[in-house]
Amino acid sequence: MPICEICNYVRTEYFHKLSKYSYYLCFSCYTLFLHPKPTQKQINHYYKKYFNYKAGELNEKLIRKRAKVILKNLMNLNLKGKTLFDIGSGYGYFLDEAIKLGISAFGIEPSKTLFTISIKHLIEIIIKNLTFEKYYELNKNKKFDFITLIHTTEHILNPHETIYKAIKLLNPGGILYIETPNLDSHLFNTEKYEYTFLTPPDHIWIFSLKSFQKILKNIPDFKIEKFSTYSYPEHLMGIIKKKFKILSMKSGTITNYQNSNKDHSSNPLLIKEGNKKGGVSDFKYMLFDKFLSPLFTPLLNLGNKGSILELYIKKK
Ligand SMILES: [Zn+2]
Repeated sequence: MPICEICNYVRTEYFHKLSKYSYYLCFSCYTLFLHPKPTQKQINHYYKKYFNYKAGELNEKLIRKRAKVILKNLMNLNLKGKTLFDIGSGYGYFLDEAIKLGISAFGIEPSKTLFTISIKHLIEIIIKNLTFEKYYELNKNKKFDFITLIHTTEHILNPHETIYKAIKLLNPGGILYIETPNLDSHLFNTEKYEYTFLTPPDHIWIFSLKSFQKILKNIPDFKIEKFSTYSYPEHLMGIIKKKFKILSMKSGTITNYQNSNKDHSSNPLLIKEGNKKGGVSDFKYMLFDKFLSPLFTPLLNLGNKGSILELYIKKK
């Protein structure tokens, strides 16, 4: 079995194969990882040719709403903070919201497609089409008060190095914010092999809090200031549908939920258009997805078992 690159544990276990990609699980640091990892060349080719993130555009409202919450937390944790660097800025909605709050924000986005779309709508052009490695090589002395890695760490080949360098780029008292799918979640425990975030080759890792504790172990002068999880209503629906499917299969009933997880229905960031149906289905959609689900979703976050991890790391 492959060694876990996060904690060097040797007794990892095979988890699941999707097309030609195999995921392994490390029980020591509780990380799921692709092995073999794709090469940088394969990744570049994949992002150039196949990667699309249409859902990012469809969920603009949701992303902007989340951005406001994150920015408020960041500013509370570092009252003097004025500058922000967003690594993997996607469509740039987060940067837009930062600018609106008077923060001097800057981002890099390695995907040419996302970069091209974002410069069309950004209220200020504050983004470069660069990888973090290239950026760091040229700008290692420029420091920031806030650095954000939002749905980025699961995509990168070398999380240790990236997090180490990101912390180096912080001013004293600065905050590194990391947001990524949470392996230690009800969503993963329920969906297992159909886990909505198993999307190779772009998701190389699925982390837990323990993974980050291991990664941060050898980095000096920082403190995990705040840690929490959150979930989208779609995650609760995904869990309910999956449980219902398991129950139906046990009793031998055929249901129309059979394919519900294959289409990533519990991942709002991957969700597609055309989910709305007419008549009774429309009513059910309104009742469960729009009303009951948002009401009960916060329950998923009890004990930090929510679907998305969020870490605020403060430099001393
Ligand atoms: Zn490990």
